[in-house]
Amino acid sequence: METYRDLSRAVAGRKSQMLEMTGELVRLESPTEDRAGVNRCVTVLEDWIQASGGRSRRSKQRSAGDLLVGHFGPARSKVKPLLLLGHLDTVWPLGTLKKMPFRVSAGRAWGPGVLDMKAGVVMALSAVRVLQEAKLLNRPIVFLLNSDEETGSEHSRALTESLARKCGAVFVLEPAQAPPQHIRRHGREWHTTVCRCMGLRLIAGWILPTATARCWNWDGRLSGPAVLPI
Ligand SMILES: [Zn+2]
Repeated sequence: METYRDLSRAVAGRKSQMLEMTGELVRLESPTEDRAGVNRCVTVLEDWIQASGGRSRRSKQRSAGDLLVGHFGPARSKVKPLLLLGHLDTVWPLGTLKKMPFRVSAGRAWGPGVLDMKAGVVMALSAVRVLQEAKLLNRPIVFLLNSDEETGSEHSRALTESLARKCGAVFVLEPAQAPPQHIRRHGREWHTTVCRCMGLRLIAGWILPTATARCWNWDGRLSGPAVLPI
């Protein structure tokens, strides 16, 4: 498997599984302030990361949900890792699921946290799996899931910043909206930078050794905008 088309086909073959995974996460309500709920999602991700051949490290938190770091790809590499950054908390209060159950209709998935950002988390993990199966994952990937993004990342900020400084680039797995092939900077805080074209093809293209683009160098601050020629 060498081309984007092959990868796209492999991704398309995972569509129903990805929806299933998204549904499983969405059905576990996880508003930021509900530590137990967020931790249930963390446990699911921990299992998925390990089942995907990744190594995971869970950092217990007292007053927020736990933080989870997954590592994929070679343990040693001359190339800096890529950081895939996401969060498992949502803005939706407990009980929203009753009024807004997870469902797929008219080509869209609905439910609390589908968009922001459980589907993004599933997409990232699925991209990693596709690349692993294609034996193309030859660059280290760090997959960080925080638990308090919706309330300002107070507990996760230090870990996120220290990991990001060790990585060559960061993808934030927030929702997609705008025209493809652009990464733009939104707001002053680096964690609010949104990759608007986030998708499996993009992640796969980025991770592939043949990808020539670099979005930005991590030097403590993000600089943008940047364009990915893939
Ligand atoms: Zn978000």
